[in-house]
Amino acid sequence: MNTIIGMGSNQDYRDKTPIKILNEVKDRMIESGIIINYQSAYYQSPAFPDATKPDFTNCVVEADFSGTPDQLLWEIQKLENQLGRNRNERWGQRTCDLDILGIGNLVLPSIEKFNYWASLDFSLQLNSIPNELIIPHPRIQDRAFVLKPLVSILPNWKHPVLHKTVSEMLEVLPDKAKKSVVEIN
Ligand code: ADP
Ligand code: MG
Repeated sequence: MNTIIGMGSNQDYRDKTPIKILNEVKDRMIESGIIINYQSAYYQSPAFPDATKPDFTNCVVEADFSGTPDQLLWEIQKLENQLGRNRNERWGQRTCDLDILGIGNLVLPSIEKFNYWASLDFSLQLNSIPNELIIPHPRIQDRAFVLKPLVSILPNWKHPVLHKTVSEMLEVLPDKAKKSVVEIN
């Protein structure tokens, strides 16, 4: 099944720049049983919601993983920790953020819970963190820094709740948001 993982960084870790960190994440994935089939280029975009923070570097990969979704979450959180992630500020500076964007057409834990998190008021998004895995990731459809890399590798992946392809989700985002995400390699 298409296992789609998004990654981002806007802070050095030791001597490593965000691109080096994300390269290392991809190298280490194989040791965690995450086999990368496709990867996007890197894209740069202003930090959100606080653009005074350093720009983010993001990419997405499509992978195979034979364990359960919770095992995958555990593996990517282990990689985040190995690459210097600390969890004190939501959406602040971070050396490494790995998100499970989707797993084929799986919806977890339920459509109702997906809808709750996907429609959460912006002010609540800042302070509410789900304590269970939500699949697809509830913010894919809002984020040009996810959809722009994703459209380059999986334009036809269909969101199992919104029933839109990646291309369709990207198309309806504001031009300004799309233009702010720039390919860097
Ligand atoms: P965010 O990526 O939303 O900015 P975090 O990386 O701090 O925030 O993630 C917060 C928590 O969200 C994680 O600890 C994890 O338990 C939970 N979570 C729920 N769904 C997902 C998902 N699809 N991918 C990654 N984490 C998720
Ligand atoms: Mg995350």
